[in-house]
Amino acid sequence: MVITTRPGVADQQIDALRERLERCGMRTLAVRRGSRVVVGCLDAPGAAEDSGDWQQDVNIESIMAWTRPYRLASRDASPGGAHDTTPIRIGSARDAVVGGNGIVVIAGPCSVEGLEQLRATAHGVRNAGATALRGGALKPRTSPYAFQGLGAEGLELLSLVRQETGLPVVTEVLDTRQVDLVAEHADVLQVGARNMQNYALLAELGRIGRPVLLKRGFAATITELLFAAEHIMTRGNHDVILCERGVRTFESATRFTLDISAIPVLKRETHLPVIVDPSHAAGDAELVPALAWAAIAAGADGLIVEVHARPEQSRSDREQQLSLPAFSAMMRGATTFAAAAGRRLARGAPAIVEPPLYVSRQAALRRRPVAS
Ligand code: PEP
Ligand code: MN
Repeated sequence: MVITTRPGVADQQIDALRERLERCGMRTLAVRRGSRVVVGCLDAPGAAEDSGDWQQDVNIESIMAWTRPYRLASRDASPGGAHDTTPIRIGSARDAVVGGNGIVVIAGPCSVEGLEQLRATAHGVRNAGATALRGGALKPRTSPYAFQGLGAEGLELLSLVRQETGLPVVTEVLDTRQVDLVAEHADVLQVGARNMQNYALLAELGRIGRPVLLKRGFAATITELLFAAEHIMTRGNHDVILCERGVRTFESATRFTLDISAIPVLKRETHLPVIVDPSHAAGDAELVPALAWAAIAAGADGLIVEVHARPEQSRSDREQQLSLPAFSAMMRGATTFAAAAGRRLARGAPAIVEPPLYVSRQAALRRRPVAS
């Protein structure tokens, strides 16, 4: 059940109400919505809910049943009410917020391959208006013989390039044992499609103070994606960004099939921000801009796009990575589509006029950055 209090009820009375509910065996969550507080009872309905006692409480305005099977991710528990998206801050820059009016573009290589590759790509995407940098250091590869990422060294490089560019870093975590290490370097921890239902990992991410980018599994339903978010949120971390990245279908012309309808469905079901990965869906750089623009038109709050300063040298997902000029062209089109959707692109960090002097990777690693 979902209880909405009357306006202006004091915090002590909310606490007392929650204590009473919890004594009846219900876990509760309180979300402030303007001058009212919404108290959600998380567990399955029980006798206490049916008893009707709660109706007598003078502080309570209304009691409703949950309208959806998930709880914290659902619009029933939305801090902003029935239509708002909950904004999630991913960095210190003013516009580094996913779920506000600005559409956030996260861009960078599939994998971190070395300092020069990462640096050139990061400066390029920053100058083209990206708000955050992506790059995998720990890679979930289908083949165990394929490049598995630079691991801890890749995370160090991401920290270093974040320091140089001011771009917040989004990078993947594969395993519960890596969560603390990745959280030291990342502003946002990505859960890849292959791990969407790794419930031990989701639980571990529920206890960290960093936003999580949760990608939809390529054989997962929208409901399963929302329950995966719920696994993180029930552990205490409410900063979950959902990502549609294509699902597996009979179609073989593209790597996956981008489920555009997932965007309006998710916007109807959840207050969490929704972003789209057109790169893994398409598997082909030429198709990426059209899918990115379609995502904006359908209401996405952001994009995560693979970009490489030299795509032909890429060690993973070579065919789908945009070159820097192609990314700039995609961004120009995105500006127009955002305006047509009544939105704008989030501003990236201001352009750097002087590129930093070349430093060798060893020298760069000696200047180890302090993770923020
Ligand atoms: C990625 O973003 O690098 C990635 C591996 O994506 P996905 O988990 O969607 O396949
Ligand atoms: Mn990739």
